[in-house]
Amino acid sequence: MRILIEISYLISSALFIFGIKMLSSPKTARKGNFLSAIGMLIAIVVTLLDQHVLTYEYILIGGLAGSIAGVILAVKTPMTGMPQMVGMLNGFGGGASTLVALSEFYKLSGSVPTETGIAIIASLLIGGVTFTGSMIAFGKLQGLVTGKVVKYKGQHAINLLMLVFVIGAGVYVVMNPMTTLNLALLLTFISLVLGVTLVLPIGGADMPVAISLLNSYSGMAGATTGFVLQNNELIIAGSLVGASGIILTNIMCKAMNRSLMNVVLGGWDSAGTVSTASTTSQKGQVKSIDPDELAMIFDVAESIIIVPGYGMAVAQAQHAVRDLVNSLEAKGKKVRFAIHPVAGRMPGHMNVLLAEAQISYDKMLAMEDINDDFPTTDIALIIGANDVVNPAARHDKNSPIFGMPILNVDYAKTVVINKRSMSAGYAGIDNELFFYPNALMYFGDAKDAVTKLVHEIKNL
Ligand code: NDP
Repeated sequence: MRILIEISYLISSALFIFGIKMLSSPKTARKGNFLSAIGMLIAIVVTLLDQHVLTYEYILIGGLAGSIAGVILAVKTPMTGMPQMVGMLNGFGGGASTLVALSEFYKLSGSVPTETGIAIIASLLIGGVTFTGSMIAFGKLQGLVTGKVVKYKGQHAINLLMLVFVIGAGVYVVMNPMTTLNLALLLTFISLVLGVTLVLPIGGADMPVAISLLNSYSGMAGATTGFVLQNNELIIAGSLVGASGIILTNIMCKAMNRSLMNVVLGGWDSAGTVSTASTTSQKGQVKSIDPDELAMIFDVAESIIIVPGYGMAVAQAQHAVRDLVNSLEAKGKKVRFAIHPVAGRMPGHMNVLLAEAQISYDKMLAMEDINDDFPTTDIALIIGANDVVNPAARHDKNSPIFGMPILNVDYAKTVVINKRSMSAGYAGIDNELFFYPNALMYFGDAKDAVTKLVHEIKNL
């Protein structure tokens, strides 16, 4: 029986590994997700068979309730709400690890072996921080908690003090196996508070990094709980999530030119500067344009680069954008897409939407592959993007996005910006691009505006 269980765990782990590998391309991502889900199903069933469960009633009730909630959330959450959902799921992972570690501590109370004790303390700390940290990240993305940098006096010293307390108390607990549950509970409570105080100061602009880091933490919490339960499958799955989360964090840091330390320390440099950013932007005159005039500009253009952003996702304009590409190509124009790594609200957000509308992958170019082409491009058409094309990132040291590489749309001969108003994007800052002499604002909901433009182009 034991060997069968271990073989099943091995199969499930292999499914996780192949699944994650397939997630690296949008073409195979769906299949990869499905494979990993099968791996998880095998892991759950085998674990239940392995644990000499006396009564399945409560497990079934919990499983059913969780599955129903999962299905409802997955069906109801729009694409634009995915980062919040991922944030929340990370938190649940951390919370589950904390609860399992606490119950093991309770079960073994009085005789916790040293290795298990270390794993329990690590689970309580990482799991606790992940749970509340992810809930705050969820709140920020959902607009329930302020997206601004929250700074208070002595913030870093207080965080450090809490961390030292948790580690110190943890060492005490491990060295004194007779310790009561109360100290473990106190340690858990402080870890939960630490999650809040660590993530609350992180500003909106840094959230992509924070989310991927919390994703990694949830994996690490799972892996340490695997050591607590001596479950190889959990150790492998947790390590995979932990490692891939760290790789993603690194990619996001590079994409935003942020140092991880700067993000983790909660806007150490940028704290309190958000409101001053807008005052430094060079205001000028905004020129807006109608669809019929815009169609004429497109008519004489030869090369066009489309920059999609969060607004395209909100408006679900990807199908209208595909029609635009088709009608421009029918007139012999060269049309490509420039994809910024943090455009939208999750990694790969734009690629997924465009692929859904049957736009070929060859047309979607990553920032580093297309950024040098803007100066020789006739029109850069921005559809619902804002922060990723804000030139302040290049020169305004007070801007929260200073240093983030941006798409060089302002170097194109004409920049057309489609959005509904002059409102800011996710980072909450003004965009001087809208006032540039070569910029034209094309106001309106992206789907509606692009559909009207296609109509006018076809009528020419
Ligand atoms: P932004 O959030 O900067 O801007 C989106 C713009 O879309 C808004 O200014 C808004 O202006 C416009 N918009 C909203 N709805 C519509 C609509 N229906 N039709 C047309 N326009 C619309 O988006 P970007 O993609 O440029 O940048 C992404 C931001 O999100 C970055 O700051 C990034 O750090 C952050 N982020 C990214 C994550 C990721 O993993 N990719 C995760 C979390 C955050 P208006 O209201 O005037 O229409």
